Amino acid sequence: AMGMDLFSERELAMAAMPTEIFSGTAMPPADAVLINFNENPLGPSAAARKAAIALLPQSGRYLFPQQLHLAELFASQHHLPADHVEVYPGSGVALDALTLAFTSPSAPLVVADPSYEQPFQMAGKHQVPVHKVPLRPDFSHDVKAMAAAAPNAGLIYVCNPNNPTGTVTSRSDIEWLLANKPKSAIVLVDEAYIHFSDAPSVLDLVAQGKDVVVLRTFSKLYGMAGMRVGAVAARPDLLAHIQALRTGGGAALPVMSVAAAIASLNDPRLVPTRKKINATIRDENIAWLRKEGYACTPSQGNCFMLDVKRPGHEVAMQMASRHVFVGRSWPIWPNQLRISVGTASEMSRFRKAFSEAMAGKL
Ligand code: PMP
Repeated sequence: AMGMDLFSERELAMAAMPTEIFSGTAMPPADAVLINFNENPLGPSAAARKAAIALLPQSGRYLFPQQLHLAELFASQHHLPADHVEVYPGSGVALDALTLAFTSPSAPLVVADPSYEQPFQMAGKHQVPVHKVPLRPDFSHDVKAMAAAAPNAGLIYVCNPNNPTGTVTSRSDIEWLLANKPKSAIVLVDEAYIHFSDAPSVLDLVAQGKDVVVLRTFSKLYGMAGMRVGAVAARPDLLAHIQALRTGGGAALPVMSVAAAIASLNDPRLVPTRKKINATIRDENIAWLRKEGYACTPSQGNCFMLDVKRPGHEVAMQMASRHVFVGRSWPIWPNQLRISVGTASEMSRFRKAFSEAMAGKL
């Protein structure tokens, strides 16, 4: 399972959402429960909304100083020099640039399996070999196998907490990986879901000049997925290399989104409050599902994998007919669905729709 793969069109297509119900190409019905994309049902905070609207009259300008302020604020809050942070219109844009910057046909990508698939999809488009390394039985990244996967590796992607499992890899494992990886490799730690977990960030390793890049987004805990703001922290030489491959029409970010991101960072209660709400609802639902006899991953994120004991796709279709839209399965785990944590009332609709789908009621 750990060998080198060049992915087939079919596998890439499968990874990229098998049907309309998962991809959201159709507008959802008004009563839809959307627990398919790991978004935050709470949306942007009140302060973030206010800040975005207040900036509307100035949105005829590019406002680069405001964007620089966001990068500086992020850097100072994490004790990093200002030139170690760049902001991007969504961390996905940065992830594509990172994959292009550090991989090539002779510099493979190493990823965990299952994990977030955007880097390997990007690799697939550019003839980059990919080494998929199964998660360990405790769902952490198998850092020993990842370090050994390719002596000429260009990029080793660590998603912490991991999407789709919500599980964490320890800081000591990430440090071990940095100390034992091939010389050629950069370690990319995607901390999209870090705020929901008890896992420590590795942002401090960036300041130490290590071969590490840390990725953050405002799409998850901050509830700003549709606003498109992400941040990359790395040594200036690495940042310059990534910037050179930046696509998407220049370096400007949406000004209202930047204002909302600044307001989010300036609210010290936002992370602990939302972390607690998410953990409470997540753990109640995992406990209920386990009591009903279904295995779930021990998540510290805002999603978890649920073993429905038959093709996940069929169960998801049944639930979609009840307007409950759950996430998809991964090729390695066809019987498991990814469930995002919604509000308490959304999750009660989820439990009802799941029970009915499993009982075969239509
Ligand atoms: N990284 C991970 C692990 C994700 O799950 C996602 C979104 N699903 C992203 C990056 C990209 O998020 P965005 O482009 O909204 O910042």
